[in-house]
Amino acid sequence: MSSEQRFEIDDLRRADAGHHLHPFTDAKELNRQGTRVIVKADGVYIWDAEGHKLLDAMAGLWCVNIGYGRKELAQAAYQQMQQLPYYNSFFQCTTPPAIELAEVLAKLAPSHINHVFFTGSGSESNDTIVRMVRRYWDLLGEPQKTVIISRNNAYHGSTMAAASLGGMKFMHAQGGLPLPGFVHIDQPYWYAEGGDRDPVTFGLEVAQQLEQKILELGLDRVAAFIGEPIQGAGGVIIPPESYWPEVQRICDKYGILLIVDEVICGFGRTGKWFGSDYYGIKPDFMPIAKGLSSGYLPIGGVMVGDRVSQVLIDKCGEFAHGFTYSGHPVAAAVALANLKILREEGIVDTVADQTGPYLQQRWAELAEHPLVGEARGVGFLGALELVKDKAKREFYPKLGKVGGLCRDLAIENGLVMRAVGDTMIISPPLIASEAHIDELVEKVRLCLDQTLQGIPKLNFDE
Ligand SMILES: *Cc1c(COP(=O)(O)O)cnc(C)c1O
Repeated sequence: MSSEQRFEIDDLRRADAGHHLHPFTDAKELNRQGTRVIVKADGVYIWDAEGHKLLDAMAGLWCVNIGYGRKELAQAAYQQMQQLPYYNSFFQCTTPPAIELAEVLAKLAPSHINHVFFTGSGSESNDTIVRMVRRYWDLLGEPQKTVIISRNNAYHGSTMAAASLGGMKFMHAQGGLPLPGFVHIDQPYWYAEGGDRDPVTFGLEVAQQLEQKILELGLDRVAAFIGEPIQGAGGVIIPPESYWPEVQRICDKYGILLIVDEVICGFGRTGKWFGSDYYGIKPDFMPIAKGLSSGYLPIGGVMVGDRVSQVLIDKCGEFAHGFTYSGHPVAAAVALANLKILREEGIVDTVADQTGPYLQQRWAELAEHPLVGEARGVGFLGALELVKDKAKREFYPKLGKVGGLCRDLAIENGLVMRAVGDTMIISPPLIASEAHIDELVEKVRLCLDQTLQGIPKLNFDE
């Protein structure tokens, strides 16, 4: 580690409370508690300003796939900033890193996807897709085809269009969302919503809601369907195996566009390059971000399949959309260095063949814990349902109390694990070794024991 810096934690907290509005945060509550200031990181660990070391089982926000502290990315940024810190891709121009990154991405993506439109984030990628979808149908003489069908509890970002695509009720409740033209069907969340049906039947039934919704709205209005291969922010919800083939069948039957949100699943999280590869889905669009640069710099993109790109190229004229930072050369150079490491170090294959199966085997052992109703996962994603009654799949009242306790205990035990209601979720850096996985599972088990002990002291009435 480089030179040790000292931090005046009280000054930092005071300034933060005074001037900084945080995303997805209750500001009053945060200012009462004080921010956790993260000051350095290496590999799978982060350190806060008070010197606590934490195993980061969330890879930041699902993004630090290659782990922290890779100097190659710092060097790529340094060199590119000296050579050319910025130029845009508007007005018949571009830069070498943007070109090279587009070519590398086209090679990595499924074979029918050969173009990318660069953005600065996942939200911008999904906003861009809404515009492309509408433009596509307009160019084909069907301008009334504008409705996009999504799922309840989906997460596709926080801009107006991305939050409308998403199915988070608490987000919609702030600001009059969703915008017109966004419709939601049920999510494939068997554990909480499957009832007496077996997972395969349930998966088919929720997928078939897509067909019902198309018929209800009229095919002349429905433009596209969007889904995350595995819902991340919604609680690492892994669809039954029957789900995606049925969604694909319905999209093919009616000719609507299929958007597969790869912002989390992309770049190795499932042990394949994309969640679409894992499930054998054939998307028309793949929004990407997060793991594209392992979070070292902000960059996103929309991977566009041939069906749409050919229409946009041949018929559109000027596509009136773009961002100042579309294809930013420094961000693109860093993304290239990240993809080089993922490829050359065989990180995705290691997740598929060694560490992913090991994590899933160790994670599954947690299902024996009295508090755990289900332990599920794919690749380097995992979730635990914390429940009152395992046999009945019954949660504790006031969803979020038990999960919140477990998350706070995790921090005390040196582990970053997230709670979505009473679902504990992980998404570790893809470079975590078997020893790191053992440390993770031991810490989680300790948290579960302490949570179980703490539940009688929780006040479920307030
Ligand atoms: C994080 C996320 C987004 C939004 O990405 P931002 O870079 O935060 O705008 C979109 N889709 C999914 C599936 C995500 O997890």
